[in-house]
Amino acid sequence: MFENKDQSHTSLDKIGEFGLIQLLTEHFKIYHKSTLKGVGDDAAVLDLTKEPSVVTTDLLVEGVHFDLGYMPLKHLGYKAVVVNLSDVFAMNALPSQITVSIAASNRFPLEALEELYSGIQLACDTYKVDLIGGDTTSSTKGLLISITAIGQAKKEEIVYRNGAKPNDLLVITGDLAAAYLGLQVLEREKQVFKVNPNATQPDLSMYSYLIERQLKPEARKDVIELFKKLHVKPTAMIDISDGLSSEILHLCEQSKVGCNLFEEKIPLDPQVIATCEEFNLESTTVALSSGEDYELLFTIDQKDYDKIKGNPNFTVIGHMTDAKEGAHLITRANQKIAIIAQGWRSF
Ligand code: ADP
Ligand code: MG
Repeated sequence: MFENKDQSHTSLDKIGEFGLIQLLTEHFKIYHKSTLKGVGDDAAVLDLTKEPSVVTTDLLVEGVHFDLGYMPLKHLGYKAVVVNLSDVFAMNALPSQITVSIAASNRFPLEALEELYSGIQLACDTYKVDLIGGDTTSSTKGLLISITAIGQAKKEEIVYRNGAKPNDLLVITGDLAAAYLGLQVLEREKQVFKVNPNATQPDLSMYSYLIERQLKPEARKDVIELFKKLHVKPTAMIDISDGLSSEILHLCEQSKVGCNLFEEKIPLDPQVIATCEEFNLESTTVALSSGEDYELLFTIDQKDYDKIKGNPNFTVIGHMTDAKEGAHLITRANQKIAIIAQGWRSF
């Protein structure tokens, strides 16, 4: 993970907005020919004429979406970019540019914003996207980050939420519930630290995968590239930011289909299973209702099954049905339970 830096404190009003933007953005690289002008003028200039563009925005608010008590600023910057790129990948598109807007209270010195931007830059370099602009302002309380991502795909390659058909297979990448459990572990350690600030650093190695999934999530660019290699185009797709059940219901509602989801097929890491036992949580419930895994959930025509069969990135977890059959979880005991939206909500 990232190293922790403790530095001096330069107040933002000493530098001015122009100096601040320059300090924060001067080391970013431009990867795309379509970026004709990035940061520095009144507006960025893009040449995106070859293919349709996809555009998506996320707004992250301190105390609602993140807690700086356990989220280092560099991780926050990285994650803020990744959650946006995940939405671009969920359209089967590849991201090319982002804008980043921030509002920060005077509690944040220059060095804090530099930490944030070092995470943003690492994400830009990892995913090869260009930072092309944004806006910077003060806030009376806390930190607010809004990122917009722009991506591109051929018109016939774009995948919407509404294309699933009855009998399509329901497929998921990676595994679920780790990010939520990572948050539970971090919350618990924060409480321990509050009670006893002199406590020795806890050994969290048994939760390493969970904490990594919470603090440094990745978006599935590899899967979008894999689809092209395997000649698979999903019929519908969504990224899992709010929990499996609510994402499945989005696909069902928009595609006007039903679905059977098989409990025994839901992929869970051994650390997830062990930590659910420790916290006395039901792992299926956590997988259905917890968020922030940023895996992809998609449907494919059955005739494409051979193309994904045996690939460790993919797990078939169910199939779509006629809308009138509804959306159901088939439990290990072979009970049929209606899926309800219980995904994570910020309200
Ligand atoms: P204006 O006053 O016209 O909005 P700004 O001084 O806010 O211009 O912005 C100058 C340049 O810096 C623009 O290219 C803008 O997109 C960019 N910019 C401003 N804030 C940020 C930021 N937080 N991150 C990246 N680029 C930024
Ligand atoms: Mg501005």
